[in-house]
Amino acid sequence: MNLARRTELFRRLQAANPHPTTELRYASPFELLVAVVLSAQATDRSVNLATERLFEVASTPQGIAALGVEGLEHYIRTIGLYRTKARNVIALCHQLIERHDGEVPHDREALEALPGVGRKTANVVLNTAFGEPTIAVDTHIFRVANRTGLAPGRNVIEVEQKLLRAVPAEFLKDAHHWLILHGRYVCQARRPACSTCVLRDLCEYREKTGDAPAKPERPSTRRRAL
Ligand code: SF4
Repeated sequence: MNLARRTELFRRLQAANPHPTTELRYASPFELLVAVVLSAQATDRSVNLATERLFEVASTPQGIAALGVEGLEHYIRTIGLYRTKARNVIALCHQLIERHDGEVPHDREALEALPGVGRKTANVVLNTAFGEPTIAVDTHIFRVANRTGLAPGRNVIEVEQKLLRAVPAEFLKDAHHWLILHGRYVCQARRPACSTCVLRDLCEYREKTGDAPAKPERPSTRRRAL
């Protein structure tokens, strides 16, 4: 996809949603970090329901560490893989206290060294908490990048690196959210809503579904017989 089309693609996503952000609820970089760790293979909604109660009683590394693994499990047991996640979050809290004075580090290497934190989680935190122009490629972004032709790739690292080159600089900071939301609500895995998609004429996906919206009829220019 050439630069003019890539620019137009993001212009349209921006016009539809000028201030995109994560659907996870959080009030600090630490809450965001915990929410993102909990969101692996779970919906943002299920995480929000759990963290709403959790953050009321504990919203700092010290507070959550004090709950212990079992105490934390009590709040997050409606989320998939909650036992593993509880162990990781408690270990992560201890590491933040011991190595980072209880603060979330603004540093990729330090973030990825935390238990339960991989490249994707680090990218989300760097982008959303610290405003870095990173792109965390999840299943939605991977699909949209490949289908549209924006940044086709065989794996998430390849797509991430291509996106970092393909997204025009002015859109880089928010690209992550626009692409996730587009994949989650429009360009869905099984039933992409191509017929109403604002990117339809720019998108290179060969198996677009449905018809393009009908163009408004133009008044006839032919002279009618009187
Ligand atoms: S036209 Fe279809 S395949 Fe292309 S981005 Fe839109 S929903 Fe996805």
